[in-house]
Amino acid sequence: MKFLCIDCDEVMTFAERELPGDGTLAAVFECPDCGREMAMLTNPMETKLVSGLGIQVGGRTVPDQPLELVRSSVTTGDEQAFADLPLTAGTVRWSEAAAERLQGVPGFVRGMVKKIYGEYAVERGIEEITPEIMDRARQDLGLEGM
Ligand SMILES: [Zn+2]
Repeated sequence: MKFLCIDCDEVMTFAERELPGDGTLAAVFECPDCGREMAMLTNPMETKLVSGLGIQVGGRTVPDQPLELVRSSVTTGDEQAFADLPLTAGTVRWSEAAAERLQGVPGFVRGMVKKIYGEYAVERGIEEITPEIMDRARQDLGLEGM
């Protein structure tokens, strides 16, 4: 399966893939020439079909990120703070570096990615998302290499 940029007659390259965990799949492709992006969405049934055929959408064209994870640096917050300020995916703070990194995610999936990290943080009582938390979430949620 390939996508072509009609204007440039170029094969679009894989830019980003997300598996939100609800069975849907989102893949973003980019034209190497003009930079135009397009996204493909599949519903759970289509995702299953694609997986069943053994097709790796986009392949592993994104190199693995170096492991920046430092487990001991992760703060989980204490019970008291948790009680005073109920955390939701929407109230979790994003450090400047983490927010900057989020901007690197294609706009199409950014909201979804932000929600995934937000919910990850809430489940663990993490009040601020940092790049280290993002790395840890990627690993824990099996998003590594996608
Ligand atoms: Zn193009």
